[in-house]
Amino acid sequence: MTLKAVKGFKDILPEEARKRQKIEEVARQVFEGCGLQEVRTPILEKTEVFARGIGEHTDIVEKEMYTFKDRNGQLLTLRPEATAGILRAVIEHKLYNVSPVLKFYTMGPMFRHERPQKGRLRQFHQLNVEYIGSDSPVADAEVIFLAYEVVSRFASEEDLLLEINSLGCPQCRPLHRKDLVYFLKNNMEDLCKDCQRRSQLNPLRVFDCKNEQCQKVLKFAPVMKHYICPECASHMGKVLDALEAFGIPFVQNPYLVRGLDYYRRTTFELRAKGLGAQSTVAAGGRYDGLSRLFDGPELPGVGMAIGVERLLLLMKGELEAEEVDLFIAALGSEARTEALYWLGYLRRNGLRVEYSLEDKSLKAQMKQADRVGARYCLIVGEREMDEEEAILRNMETKEQEILDLDDLPEILLEKTKS
Ligand code: ATP
Ligand code: MG
Repeated sequence: MTLKAVKGFKDILPEEARKRQKIEEVARQVFEGCGLQEVRTPILEKTEVFARGIGEHTDIVEKEMYTFKDRNGQLLTLRPEATAGILRAVIEHKLYNVSPVLKFYTMGPMFRHERPQKGRLRQFHQLNVEYIGSDSPVADAEVIFLAYEVVSRFASEEDLLLEINSLGCPQCRPLHRKDLVYFLKNNMEDLCKDCQRRSQLNPLRVFDCKNEQCQKVLKFAPVMKHYICPECASHMGKVLDALEAFGIPFVQNPYLVRGLDYYRRTTFELRAKGLGAQSTVAAGGRYDGLSRLFDGPELPGVGMAIGVERLLLLMKGELEAEEVDLFIAALGSEARTEALYWLGYLRRNGLRVEYSLEDKSLKAQMKQADRVGARYCLIVGEREMDEEEAILRNMETKEQEILDLDDLPEILLEKTKS
């Protein structure tokens, strides 16, 4: 039996890797342009980082984490998301002493044991932004701006829908929770098994249920909007004002909640048409209480994650490989040795140059030059070496000219520069 990749884990082959490079390049440019700095935390963390951070009774921690004991019996988890690890690092290195507001981004693989389907993998990739240390509503709006800015480079803005909600804070949330629990109790028989369980452990999560019957019932459930305290309401108002100033359209969705416990106040999702059931491309929110859960100082924070695989589904067309400037077709050992010198010189000077690894016939080498899409081909065989010249062929116009071997690499550099 031939070996295959693990289910839900996917090979990224050149054509897709090119698109990912493009996505990462755009994201980096947007993030750095807004003054963010990159951090890279380990893919493996102690399980506690996520259990404590994300919340024990969330889908992620209950059923989706890749957790195992290492050879020393230490319980470890492949990161299912980025925020918990980054906050762990900020506290561990006391980065809040370096600057009162930290603006970080990161990108890389995440792991969740879910049912693989379109737009849902077990190893997937995110672009993440975390603003740590600010409780300003402008921070929330900037984080949303960054999500919108990157996603809209790859999707048409008419297809995007930004939904936003406030989850309240420890002041106002308990009042809502109490009424919600009461409502759920009275409607228990109409809820799915998962929601029946959630209504005890993590009642807010019922709003995230994908079951239609549950959604019907929940249309009548009390929503946070009616319980929100003046401070949370004022915060929300300022976030919305800032979004308007940024020119980002949004709708308020009182039923929007997120799958992680640490969210507070602002929560948002950016959806895109054409993605089917997995329509959320980016999501995030504020997590002011998380740092205290990690025994860190009082550190407000807000962040977001963009799903790279979903962004890829939105990208139309193919990205061509970068074109090759020159192919050197050299025949015979003398010419081939000389060619290595030119190759080195030209490559060091930034030209894309390719070369046949084997001393093949001229016909075979020309074929290779065609296949890699070279703009020019330099031909040198024994006869050319004797006469101290080489032939430069423009592969598009088929025009050829004879070049002197003296100063050849400099001449080539000049002629093939686009
Ligand atoms: P969903 O409701 O789709 O499961 P989520 O609430 O679990 O999303 P988050 O934890 O907020 O997702 O992750 C942010 C983004 O990461 C999602 O909006 C999505 O684009 C992407 N994402 C999450 N899980 C997966 C996955 N299993 N495969 C691919 N992308 C994912
Ligand atoms: Mg999920």
